[in-house]
Amino acid sequence: MGKVAQNGSQIVAELPRACSDELAAVEFLERQRWGDSPACPRCGATDVYAVQGRDGKRNKRFLWVCRDCGEQYTVRIGTVFEDSRIPLRHWCYAFWAACASKKGVSALQIQRQTRLSYKSALFLMHRIRFAMTPNRSPRLDGTVEVDETYVGGKPRNPSIQAIRAMSYEERKPWRQERERAKGRGTKKPPVVALVERGGNVRAHVVTDVSGTTLKRAIRENVRSSAAIHTDELSSYHGIGRHFAGGHHTVRHSVREYARGDVHVNTAESFFALLKRGLIGTFHAVSRQHLHRYVNEFAFRWNHRKVDDGARTVAAIRGAEGKRLYYRDPRRGAKK
Ligand SMILES: [Zn+2]
Repeated sequence: MGKVAQNGSQIVAELPRACSDELAAVEFLERQRWGDSPACPRCGATDVYAVQGRDGKRNKRFLWVCRDCGEQYTVRIGTVFEDSRIPLRHWCYAFWAACASKKGVSALQIQRQTRLSYKSALFLMHRIRFAMTPNRSPRLDGTVEVDETYVGGKPRNPSIQAIRAMSYEERKPWRQERERAKGRGTKKPPVVALVERGGNVRAHVVTDVSGTTLKRAIRENVRSSAAIHTDELSSYHGIGRHFAGGHHTVRHSVREYARGDVHVNTAESFFALLKRGLIGTFHAVSRQHLHRYVNEFAFRWNHRKVDDGARTVAAIRGAEGKRLYYRDPRRGAKK
């Protein structure tokens, strides 16, 4: 894989053209994937060329041919773009939009901008979320905050005034919703976030918040040298014996939000961002797709220290090697 010596702001300068002109989009993606040595994806030979038409321009399909093995391919090969006919300039736009905004971009916004069908826009955004899923990254270490919350795809609740103005029958579902939201007996799916202070977040949709589930999530995602910070939820009891840094709890029940450096405020800011995004941008996200959105927010969080261009390129690079895996996880195509 060729290295590209480009910084984020150069990339930001290139993106508007890549979002409006198909050739510019293709060349942009080729540079990001292959740098200046576009090797054959089948045999690895570097003796390859871009097919040109009689007019000396790139051919319509933007094909490459390998002189060694005869393979014909395009920049889409082996990526989340491969099975799609959506023009690459729209992929560029959607990647950029998803990476440049804090709260994400909805399929509806992509549909308006690109004039794709809603179905295509949704397909595209799901694949971008898949590209944002980390392949393998080192487990978290240092001070790691763990917290859990419930998020869901309910539309924004009406205000108290609006509810008062409703008839008895109209009020009923909202009253039930309020009852459900009160306790932890809510039907919304739980999400656990593990955040290394000053570092990355890992967030997962989980089936429940039992000790078994939460402790497994912690042990799978955190190195044993770390210190674990949580609230006083009993599910976390006993986790300290697996970690050299021990287990420190903050007692939310007595309105204690931090004791020295013991707190879960970073995890809570991640959840605040996630919830604002899910309410403001995505409205109704079903349980089935929630993990994709959680991935998307974790990706942006983990790339918060770079600019929009570098973040966009990181997402595009994540598109590689994910095609088969997307279609059938059981087949397990690992690169
Ligand atoms: Zn070849």
